[in-house]
Amino acid sequence: MAQPKADIALIGLAVMGQNLILNMDSKGFIVCAFNRTVEKVDQFLANEAKGTKIIGAKSLEDMVAKLKTPRKVMLLVKAGFAVDEFVKKLLPLLEKGDIIIDGGNSQYTDTQRWCKELASTGIHYIGMGVSGGEDGARYGPSLMPGGHPAAWPHVKPIFQAISAKVNGEPCCDWVGEDGAGHFVKMVHNGIEYGDMQLICEAYHLMKDVLGMDQDEMAKVFDEWNKGELDSFLIEITRDILKFKDADGKHLLPKIRDAAGQKGTGKWTGISALEYGVPVTLIGEAVFARCLSALKEERVTASKSLPGSTLKFSGDKKQFLEHLRMALFASKIISYAQGFMLLREAAKDNKWNLNYGSIALMWRGGCIIRSVFLGNIKDAYTKNPQLSNLLLDPYFCERISTCQPSLRQVVAQAALLGVPVPAFSAALAFYDGYRANMLPANLLQAQRDYFGAHTYELLTKPGDFLHTNWTGHG
Ligand code: NAP
Repeated sequence: MAQPKADIALIGLAVMGQNLILNMDSKGFIVCAFNRTVEKVDQFLANEAKGTKIIGAKSLEDMVAKLKTPRKVMLLVKAGFAVDEFVKKLLPLLEKGDIIIDGGNSQYTDTQRWCKELASTGIHYIGMGVSGGEDGARYGPSLMPGGHPAAWPHVKPIFQAISAKVNGEPCCDWVGEDGAGHFVKMVHNGIEYGDMQLICEAYHLMKDVLGMDQDEMAKVFDEWNKGELDSFLIEITRDILKFKDADGKHLLPKIRDAAGQKGTGKWTGISALEYGVPVTLIGEAVFARCLSALKEERVTASKSLPGSTLKFSGDKKQFLEHLRMALFASKIISYAQGFMLLREAAKDNKWNLNYGSIALMWRGGCIIRSVFLGNIKDAYTKNPQLSNLLLDPYFCERISTCQPSLRQVVAQAALLGVPVPAFSAALAFYDGYRANMLPANLLQAQRDYFGAHTYELLTKPGDFLHTNWTGHG
């Protein structure tokens, strides 16, 4: 009997690919699996995929022949070179109307390049952000597709079926043209860096300022997870704090304090600099990882550079409440910065981004999923033209209430010598953004003094003046 034709092919049988295939199968789609190292296809079919309708292919030609038209081929391989190689090999095997979907963490500029190159061939290209790790891929990821819009109706039923759902709504919708999906995924990852760093700073203050033990801290995170901070990252922090090793001791204090990174946070920072958007909190979160990685240097420096001799003398319960509010305020600021970057990139690339829909895509399935993203979705649903999240009535009220606590936390941390780069960046941005006058008048004067870069007067914007500041020459 002839094998039924597959709805979609998936190339890349590492952790993400295998789980996404099993997810698609569980939703009734027939998937054809392929991998560069072809033996992995048979291994997968004989083990993880045993008893499913998943079929395998021995070559790209074999895979393409097993697909229904228009053919849909999804890549979940290492970003960069591997994606380029597979796309080049696929192109001669595909025809007009067929669709290539890159689901890896590719740079959005690579996706833009492929969209442009393929435009004249009639083969459609989608760059799709996939978030949620192994579990998300298996049971419901957050999916952020962008690229050639004509491809969307063909893949929408598959991707919306396998994605996470919040109140019955899929965490997957069309993001926009060319690299928009991968750009949104990149900003998601940057925000993830920021959220993680803020939680780490709160933990640092609980541990070193308040002297709390791990079970006590776990209880606080558990409490926080019942309110407006309710999120996956707070939940896993509680569980990590509680976790005991085989020797009955907590595992966390034994872990070397040098953070790794794969690059998406760094790309967000680079994009922020390129588009000229002050995404300071994510930038600090990336640098905090870099600083942590200088472990040996820090150990040496700790022996000669003095810190503070002050001890915390305040009310512990009250400080914990300040900390909770500071975390919430900083989170609002970080997301406001992330959406500022999305807005600027959208303007530059002519993407028509739906910010409410992006918030919904992040509301479930992904690492930054939280109740808070529901509030962001509401803010953009009420006002799709909202210029900045901080100006939405709900967030304006929340930040107004929480900002005094953020000041308390940053001030205490500075006095006691505990580094809080993300909290500090949040506060500095907040005070800068709400300032109707900044010292950039002096900056402009300095630039004009040494470089004749000109300046404008407050009363005459648009008129560029130069002054001879030294009176000679
Ligand atoms: P991965 O370790 O990033 O990649 C492994 C896959 O790429 C294997 O199928 C491997 O084939 C293939 N590959 C590597 N180099 C290749 C080359 N030069 N030519 C052709 N194929 C090559 O796998 P992953 O962790 O499942 O991630 C897949 C993608 O999803 C990545 O872009 C990743 O950044 C992204 N992502 C990962 C996660 C996560 O939690 N892991 C979450 C979201 C997104 P062989 O078996 O032949 O080596």
